[in-house]
Amino acid sequence: MSFESLNLSAPILKAISACGYTAPTPIQAQSIPLALEGKDLIGSAQTGTGKTASFVLPALERLLTPSELRGKGPRVLVLTPTRELATQVSDAVRSYGKFMRVRSGSILGGMPYRFQMDLLSRPVDFIVGTPGRIIDHLERRTLNLSRLELLVLDEADRMLDMGFSEDVDRIAAACPEGRQTMLFTATMDDPMAKLAARLLTDPVRVAVEGKEVAELQIEQRLHVADDMRHKNRLLQHLISDASVSKAIIFSATKRDADQLAADLYAQGHAAAALHGDMSQGARNRTIVNMRRGKVRLLVATDVAARGLDVSGITHVINYDLPKFAEDYVHRIGRTGRAGASGVAISFCSLNEVAYLDRIERYTGKALPQHVIPGLEPTRQLRRANAGPGGKKGRPSFDPRRKSTGPKARFGAPGGKPGRRDQDVVVEYRRGGRRDSGKQG
Ligand code: AMP
Repeated sequence: MSFESLNLSAPILKAISACGYTAPTPIQAQSIPLALEGKDLIGSAQTGTGKTASFVLPALERLLTPSELRGKGPRVLVLTPTRELATQVSDAVRSYGKFMRVRSGSILGGMPYRFQMDLLSRPVDFIVGTPGRIIDHLERRTLNLSRLELLVLDEADRMLDMGFSEDVDRIAAACPEGRQTMLFTATMDDPMAKLAARLLTDPVRVAVEGKEVAELQIEQRLHVADDMRHKNRLLQHLISDASVSKAIIFSATKRDADQLAADLYAQGHAAAALHGDMSQGARNRTIVNMRRGKVRLLVATDVAARGLDVSGITHVINYDLPKFAEDYVHRIGRTGRAGASGVAISFCSLNEVAYLDRIERYTGKALPQHVIPGLEPTRQLRRANAGPGGKKGRPSFDPRRKSTGPKARFGAPGGKPGRRDQDVVVEYRRGGRRDSGKQG
């Protein structure tokens, strides 16, 4: 399928071609025709699938026809859970709309009101914003949504997680009833289904499985770690590999992100932290430095890295596993973007086995375990979904089974730390373990 066959207008096609896109991604091919028909839509797609263009392109197409309504409020409003994601959507609006006249801007929390007041005092077409600040402007009556034609909720699941449910309802209530609504989410649990039922009319569902992202473009590996010291040694080994040219390392807490980034920096690595306690300016600077290649290792928390779009991320390293399986898919989606290949490496220690279990159930796939010779875990992980004798639903380490190391068990050649970790692969499959031995 081509973009031309989607019935987009010339200025939009020209911008798409200037971006170097040759064909729509699956979510774009499914969503754009429905969106252009004016249908309400629920899209299940992760970041990395091209979902931003799947709502920005039809939104721009709409703006090519003048509004019948007078007033200066926006015709399109995109709500995002984080400032980073909002910035990326705004960047997409600028790139895809660069051959047409679009008056657009962002209304984000943590940013000065002055510029936002200025933006809203003039006619505007396209606003991207975070819910809290949009509510502020509605209350101050500096924002009027009576002209709104299209409301987009991007990463709606995360907005609910972050407690924005009420704000989203209030914003939707300020929009005209006959507007079009598009909602993007990675999950469809009960609260999400209820939100969709409240805000959308007769929606069509389009889905691109997260699994596709995970399976097609990203090689996933698991390293079992005894403790934090073991994780640090594994990390040292992995980042010493020259193929790790741009990596995001995920940590569970902001403090750990700072500490780990400081340690790596002290060891001479171009490392920096990215988390929610940093000022917006510092976060933006760090992201720009990463884009420019000045930062090689970014140590981030989930919220800060949400929606982060830096091209050429070769590796995602889960220093700590995420509590929620959806976050795992979001994290690994930072690499392998739009056709590029990537590697996602996860460390799992004793107290994280339940998280691993959730991830494997969610993605429907057991993560292949890799062992670095010389850095073997001392204990074997018993996994709920796969693995020898693992009881379903009750994952645990088996402290009685002391590992004798891969050399003895799998007959792999010995090696000092520093060998590539792909030499020995222990792959768990339902109903038994498969030792795949040398994998190059
Ligand atoms: P998203 O899922 O919207 O965050 O997009 C992920 C990345 O894919 C971004 O860097 C986009 O620039 C890129 N992208 C979006 N659509 C296409 C396409 N049709 N062909 C190639 N790259 C694309």
